[in-house]
Amino acid sequence: MSANKLELQDITRSYDGVNVVDGLSLTLAAGEVTCLLGPSGCGKSTTLRIAAGVDWQTTGSVLIDGRVASDDAGHMPPEERNIGLMFQDFALFPHLNVEGNVGFGLKGSRTDKKARVADLLHKVDLDGYGHKYPHQLSGGEQQRVALARALAPKPQVMLMDEPFSGLDDRLRDDVRDATMEILKAENTAVLMVTHEPEEAMRMADRIALMRNGKIVQAGAPYNMYNAPVDKQAAGFFSDINVIEGAVTNALTETPFGQFLTPGMVDGTQVEIIIRPQHLKLDFDRNGQGPSPTVADGVPACGKVKRARYLGHQSLVEFVMDYDGSILKVLVTGVFLPKIETTMWLSMRRDRCFWFVK
Ligand code: ADP
Ligand code: MG
Repeated sequence: MSANKLELQDITRSYDGVNVVDGLSLTLAAGEVTCLLGPSGCGKSTTLRIAAGVDWQTTGSVLIDGRVASDDAGHMPPEERNIGLMFQDFALFPHLNVEGNVGFGLKGSRTDKKARVADLLHKVDLDGYGHKYPHQLSGGEQQRVALARALAPKPQVMLMDEPFSGLDDRLRDDVRDATMEILKAENTAVLMVTHEPEEAMRMADRIALMRNGKIVQAGAPYNMYNAPVDKQAAGFFSDINVIEGAVTNALTETPFGQFLTPGMVDGTQVEIIIRPQHLKLDFDRNGQGPSPTVADGVPACGKVKRARYLGHQSLVEFVMDYDGSILKVLVTGVFLPKIETTMWLSMRRDRCFWFVK
């Protein structure tokens, strides 16, 4: 038994001379859910297929439960890897009923198999569905059958490729939460591919953010959101506002005042990044102009360009007086100021990131 259930070591996969996975390393422990997150085409599915053994890396090794499943010397076939697989389309066998689907990969006596199938159908809340066929089930029910089938042989590692994208939005949250509970109860190591940051934030213990075949950052959802490695990583999780400035004496001058940017030589162009919910409307200042002592730096003035109500928040876009750039502000509740209203904005400085341009 190994602490790490899945280890991808320096995996590279090239198609026609292009590395679609490029020196990727990743480890997963039992009971841990890691989401491989990234834009379409960045190499997520290829990575998952290599872990599953349905595709082979050009170089690098795959270890499952401490044993080499694939390296330069050879490749273990998928059915010997002790993994569970779940894909977007669920891929249930149409000619088998629910029991047949769930029990498909199971070995052992008829009684044992029947007991395991019944146990799983109970876990996924499908008691009494054993004799139905896939076409008689809703999308959510099919998803749960696919989950039960993948879990049936008690895999050490569960590999899931966008497993919820076929479900409609309202159903999805419930199905996701139920799936997570079951996976945690089975203590399976889970590698799940998604291109949706909200889904990764919701489900993952750890997120591995991919770009161009590489993992650019990995960590707990909180750290990924609040300590991004670069502007693109920040922008992958939400809209961002960018405020530019130049460094003088380790300070970056911006329309919102000076920012400490230690270690930067004079003249360096810096981008200060802030998410829309961390810009504040400075109601005290409205109509009065900036005050000389402001905890959040200097407020800057802009005019409302557009205001939209999104449900629990309102999104207000401003054209800033200082250079005509657009800043987006998320305000809790209903806030729909008239177009062209002049307002003062300030920044939550503890929520800014800065990067060299
Ligand atoms: P993702 O799942 O992140 O959207 P994929 O891993 O499916 O991305 O694909 C990554 C890149 O590899 C894409 O540019 C895709 O076109 C390419 N690719 C995937 N499979 C093949 C293949 N069998 N032959 C050639 N190129 C492929
Ligand atoms: Mg994919």
